Amino acid sequence: MWLITFDIDGTMEFGDPNGILTREHVEYFRSKGAIIGSASDRPESSQFIMWRGYELEPDFVILKHHMTTLKERFPDLTTYWHVGDRPLDQQTARMAGFTFFWPDQFPSPEMADDFFMHVKPPEEGGSLTAGEAALRLAAHALHTNGATEYR
Ligand SMILES: [Mg+2]
Repeated sequence: MWLITFDIDGTMEFGDPNGILTREHVEYFRSKGAIIGSASDRPESSQFIMWRGYELEPDFVILKHHMTTLKERFPDLTTYWHVGDRPLDQQTARMAGFTFFWPDQFPSPEMADDFFMHVKPPEEGGSLTAGEAALRLAAHALHTNGATEYR
C-alpha cells in the first residue's frame, strides 16, 4: 500500500488559488490502492470542507507541519508521496521522508497507466506490491517530468 498527501492551495483544482491536479488524479490513484488525503496549512476542518465541497471524501487530512506523524498513523506502507507548490512543501516532505513532486511533475493517469502496463502489482498479475510499483512510478515520473533530483 502507499499514501499520497496533496497540498490544497495552488496544487488542487479546488484550492485557492486553483492548482492543476484534479478529481481524475485522485480517483485514478485511489483506484490503484493509494490512501489519499491532504496536508495543508489550513485547519483540518477547513480541509475537510474543501474536499467535500469538491465531492470527494479524503482518507485523512493533516496540518502540513504534522506530516511526519502520517508514518505513525499509516505505518508499514512502502511509499509516501507529497505534492505541493511551495518550497515549504518540498522541505516538509523531505523531513518526513516523503517523495516530493511539484504539481507539474506529478504523474498523469495516462502516464501511470502506461507505466503500470509494464510494472504490475501482484493483484494485477505482476510481482511488485502496489507500493513498490508506486515507488518506481515516482522515479519514472520525476525523471520524465524534468526533476533534477529524485528518490
Ligand atoms: Mg500550496
